Amino acid sequence: MAASFWLRGAASGLRPWSRRQRPAAASLAAVCSRSMASKTPVGFIGLGNMGNPMAKNLMKHGYPLVIYDVFPDACKEFQEAGEQVVSSPADVAEKADRIITMLPTSMNAIEAYSGANGILKEVKKGSLLIDSSTIDPSVSKELAKEVEKMGAVFMDAPVSGGVGAARSGNLTFMVGGVEEEFAAAKELLSCMGSNVVYCGAVGTGQAAKICNNMLLAISMIGTAEAMNLGIRLGLDPKLLAKILNMSSGRCWSSDTYNPVPGVMVGVPSANNYQGGFGTTLMAKDLGLAQDSATNTKSPILLGSQAHQIYRMMCAKGYSKKDFSSVFQFLREEENL
Ligand code: NAD
Repeated sequence: MAASFWLRGAASGLRPWSRRQRPAAASLAAVCSRSMASKTPVGFIGLGNMGNPMAKNLMKHGYPLVIYDVFPDACKEFQEAGEQVVSSPADVAEKADRIITMLPTSMNAIEAYSGANGILKEVKKGSLLIDSSTIDPSVSKELAKEVEKMGAVFMDAPVSGGVGAARSGNLTFMVGGVEEEFAAAKELLSCMGSNVVYCGAVGTGQAAKICNNMLLAISMIGTAEAMNLGIRLGLDPKLLAKILNMSSGRCWSSDTYNPVPGVMVGVPSANNYQGGFGTTLMAKDLGLAQDSATNTKSPILLGSQAHQIYRMMCAKGYSKKDFSSVFQFLREEENL
């Protein structure tokens, strides 16, 4: 019955139900198709640094996977493990009614959803589509509209935590979308994260993620500047970090991810800034913050400055290094 509601709504374009009723109907349809066998295949698109360990955690929880990545090598180990590898996002949508996408940019997400062989070509009514990429909130909203037209459900669920947290299943998911669908999304996301937070309507997950990363970028640059100044003033970097971390300047960048080589072990600064969160991705996220700030007429003086600094780093060869390499960048700049 709920499914026929969807059929009627999708075919006629009419919405005889209120906005609060319609998701409940979608939810019922989804419950019928999805929850009867909760270990039905889950589609996963984008098996890169983050997607690879996330998909493996779904496997550990017993979910069979339907896999696709534009880079075929990224699928190899899943194929060897017996998972189904297919040749387009449309094929994934044909074989799975719950799909997670983990792609680098807004353009990649648009291609995976709306491209010639995109998810929307084959998506089934009542399917749940979760996008965990960090992309423009306005793109998430557009994708949600397209998905809704097909009688399916879209949620944005970007992550915080990085590759380490993706491996250990300790990501934080910030979820935007119809609240009635949150429980269904949480069932999958809890296999990959220790915090799954409902933020509000579609796009609010991205909004939370973008705000967090803008603050992170600013605090990392601030930490790098303070550490560099202290070193120039003759302070031992480990002692300075210890003092900052017991004082009001303390932040995640100073006490958990210090950018100065030799201050901490097990962080990218201890390993020539390899691994971690790439400078290119940080520059991309700051670009999203800049666009959002322009659209909403919000002043982000330091966020804009941080964007320019990370863009300049990319132009000067830091793009593949972790974003904490801003410390190294400042040291080099100061010798010019
Ligand atoms: P990545 O570049 O390592 O992986 C992306 C994968 O998507 C690649 O394997 C690529 O081949 C594939 N891909 C690209 N376009 C595709 C398409 N149209 N169809 C199918 N596959 C496609 O990126 P990542 O580090 O895994 O990051 C993914 C997302 O997560 C980004 O939006 C990033 O900002 C966000 N993120 C990353 C981190 C991190 O620490 N790396 C942390 C939090 C959030």
